[in-house]
Amino acid sequence: MILKKYKIDDRFETNNYLLIDEKGHEAVLIDCTGNFVEIKKELDKYSAKLKYILLTHGHFDHIFGCLEFKDKLNPTIVIHKDDKIMVDNVDIQCNLFGIPVFKMPKVDAVIDENSKLEFGAYDIDVIHTSGHTPGGVCYMIDNKLFSGDTLFYENVGRCDLAGGNFNEIVHNISNKLYTLPKDTMVYTGHGENTTIGHEMENNFYVNKNSII
Ligand SMILES: [Zn+2]
Ligand SMILES: [Zn+2]
Repeated sequence: MILKKYKIDDRFETNNYLLIDEKGHEAVLIDCTGNFVEIKKELDKYSAKLKYILLTHGHFDHIFGCLEFKDKLNPTIVIHKDDKIMVDNVDIQCNLFGIPVFKMPKVDAVIDENSKLEFGAYDIDVIHTSGHTPGGVCYMIDNKLFSGDTLFYENVGRCDLAGGNFNEIVHNISNKLYTLPKDTMVYTGHGENTTIGHEMENNFYVNKNSII
């Protein structure tokens, strides 16, 4: 599997991840904030079709590239059912955060923790990790965890925005992510990669609060 990380050099610095099954000629993009030309070039290199845009949650800084990809490549846009409302009301989010309103295509498919998706030869497992947003998810693909704004390198996503809940994020990380093998690579929504083992040792926010 080919795995590429993309980031736009703006104030949000959201990570997007392109995963390509080079034998099955299918790909998925995890979160979508642009870099269309570079990503299209990579897809073409492997004659791969972009099957899904897998959104980790509904915040504007993870979705504002979707329109161009939808128009030009027609992937299925996927989000957890509890965050669909955020995508459907992106104008409200933009006004709240003081950024220009952008157009967002309709979500094509809503998922929950029991959803089974796949691309090429790979299964996509959905782990519902509310706390940053109600419908925040992590995706597990090929033993790699894509953690969105749930788990960062020695940090967690902020819980003070609408729908956030600090106890929930700590509970979900402790019970659903820390049960994964320690050497599981974690590809985060912002900042650098980490591993489950590193976070179990060093994540002050989770480890200090996980007893409550
Ligand atoms: Zn977020
Ligand atoms: Zn974010």
